[in-house]
Amino acid sequence: MTASGIERGLSTGLLTVSQIGASNRVGLLHSLVRLGPASRSDLARLAKVPRGSIAPIVTGLIEDGFLVELEPANGPSKMGKPSRPLWFGPRVGHSCSLRVEATGVDCARVDQRGQVHDLRRADFPSDASAAVIESAVLSLAETVAGRSPEPLTGLGLAWPAVWDPVDWTVLSCTPIPALVGSGLARRLGQACGLDLFLEDDARALAIGQRWFGEARDLDNFSAVQISTGIGAGLMVDGKLFSVEGRSPEVGHMVVDLDGAPCRCGRSGCWETLAALGWLRQEARRLGLPQWETALPGDIVAWSSPAADQLLDSYARNIAIGLVNLANTVGLHRFLLHGEVVSGGEPLLRLLRRHIGAQTTWSETKPTVEFSELNQTAALLGAAVIPLVHTIERA
Ligand SMILES: [Zn+2]
Repeated sequence: MTASGIERGLSTGLLTVSQIGASNRVGLLHSLVRLGPASRSDLARLAKVPRGSIAPIVTGLIEDGFLVELEPANGPSKMGKPSRPLWFGPRVGHSCSLRVEATGVDCARVDQRGQVHDLRRADFPSDASAAVIESAVLSLAETVAGRSPEPLTGLGLAWPAVWDPVDWTVLSCTPIPALVGSGLARRLGQACGLDLFLEDDARALAIGQRWFGEARDLDNFSAVQISTGIGAGLMVDGKLFSVEGRSPEVGHMVVDLDGAPCRCGRSGCWETLAALGWLRQEARRLGLPQWETALPGDIVAWSSPAADQLLDSYARNIAIGLVNLANTVGLHRFLLHGEVVSGGEPLLRLLRRHIGAQTTWSETKPTVEFSELNQTAALLGAAVIPLVHTIERA
């Protein structure tokens, strides 16, 4: 048996007592991720830790600072001692989190309970050079990391990029083409002196929502970004769907065979009909004011017959992509992020109407919501990855 074979044997069927203890600790912390603040008995059940073992494991994790006991959810009770929920403690730590988009970068420190601290932003023009963008990102990250009163466990970066898995060079970045070939990620880790963890921005939305956001209790949902581009993080049975580390490029599913050219090289992609660029070009064609900077919320506010028609078409175009996603992936809950959210209730009503019209009687009708966290979810998602790394070393 090779060394790796021995290791595989030990890690599957021949665990030592200390290894069982370690796997129970990690399993219990992972279960807390799924449950949120939870009692010992609920945790033991989900983590499949023997009831007799839970007390010493929890005591050890509290002593090591990985867990804390919160106040009882229902306050003091006269009917015996109420259980105190367990939640992540200070040892899980704070991380520095970055989100890069086409016109700026957000950076914050995020604690082990998903609270965002010291949120800062640096804007840059949409046609900025790589040097300008890199300088803005590095400077902001160094500022936030340098001001942290807590030791940081790592640096998480959410961005709309595809990168080389070995040297982290940007291979493609459709919303920010200037970043192609950039070594920003390498320089970022070195500049801050922290372990760096990279994530696609749409996937980070799904992670952030699942851990700390509006999808805490959902194992199956899709976090969709509808902005200058379109992307999605697909959460299936509590895990991000990906193949060899890559998620599907949902913005580039073709919805119109005779449609306009897309920047990917095909024609009629969903992105060409439902992203901000389409909305603004249509606003221009219809003679609406300030079309260059128009957001869905502006179209709602203008409330003219032409604006109303445009809003309806925008909702219809978004709906066709969501219904296609529901029919191909099987996810029926959509949490939308990006500029689309500015359309508020009027746009949401139209979206639901078009989704209903495009769903047949025998299909599960997809549900759609606008995220209240919106882009903060990506910051939370980027922060989760260093946090998980810490938990796995617990
Ligand atoms: Zn395309």
